[in-house]
Amino acid sequence: MDIFDSYIRAGKIASKVRESARIQDHTGRTLSEICNEIEQEIVKNGGDPAFPVNVSLNEIAAHYTAEPNDPITVKNSDVLKIDVGVHIDGYIADTAVTISNDPKYQNLINIAERALDEAISIARSNTRVSDIGRIIEKTITKYGCKPIQNLSGHSLERYTIHAGKSIPNIWTIGHSFNLSVNNVYAIEPFVTTKDGQGIVYEGKIKNIFGIASRKPTKDQKVDDFLAYLWNNFKTLPFALRWIVNDYEEKEAVSLLEKLLKKKNVHAYPILVEGANKIVVQAEHTIIPQESDTITITK
Ligand code: MN
Ligand code: MN
Repeated sequence: MDIFDSYIRAGKIASKVRESARIQDHTGRTLSEICNEIEQEIVKNGGDPAFPVNVSLNEIAAHYTAEPNDPITVKNSDVLKIDVGVHIDGYIADTAVTISNDPKYQNLINIAERALDEAISIARSNTRVSDIGRIIEKTITKYGCKPIQNLSGHSLERYTIHAGKSIPNIWTIGHSFNLSVNNVYAIEPFVTTKDGQGIVYEGKIKNIFGIASRKPTKDQKVDDFLAYLWNNFKTLPFALRWIVNDYEEKEAVSLLEKLLKKKNVHAYPILVEGANKIVVQAEHTIIPQESDTITITK
């Protein structure tokens, strides 16, 4: 299977599930219902989730996924960011949408979408990423809002979501690089209100994990669990929800804690706006060409 084909297929599936999430009324649904439904939809369409669906509410900018049977319910006034990753054979499409029934947040959501569109409109081979950061920041501040300055887009590689290069959401002085033709990048502006701090901090909750090392632990049970995680998720992030079909929940939590302590597994904390203000997000995955860009998640 052609690499490019895999990206296009992953992008189509990601876009399809994002759009079906966008038009639904999620009020009254639990976060686990939402995550499970979207992930099942990805599989039904022939893809695999590249990471646990992120369902971050309000001042949580990113990295919240549902716990098994997570009871948190979406309220009518909530701002829900749904961030979806789909992979085909390790080739990943990453996209996000923000949903709210409260009309007072629609403007903020539109600004994030506008900033993303503006960024994509200048993205092609050799675009300086500092120019992308600048156009995102300009678009957001023009409307009196703030970009989240310490969250950024990123390069993607096979089985690697954050492949080392960052696409800033602000104008930064200093080192920059140019987009390369046929490389894959996610662009993802995060926007908060003018009374927000424009910076996110790590919160206490950690419910997304990834393997950091496969070094044996000298505990057979733990090593078996690590092998199970590697066989299922490789270098991609995972959640407890994905393990409890094969391991009893208490057992899974205890094994996971041992692997965290030994630093075989890394946890990604939720990221929370510094002044606890609402954060919205928009995201697409692109493949720059000579004179324009392919948006695989359009
Ligand atoms: Mn994403
Ligand atoms: Mn991303």
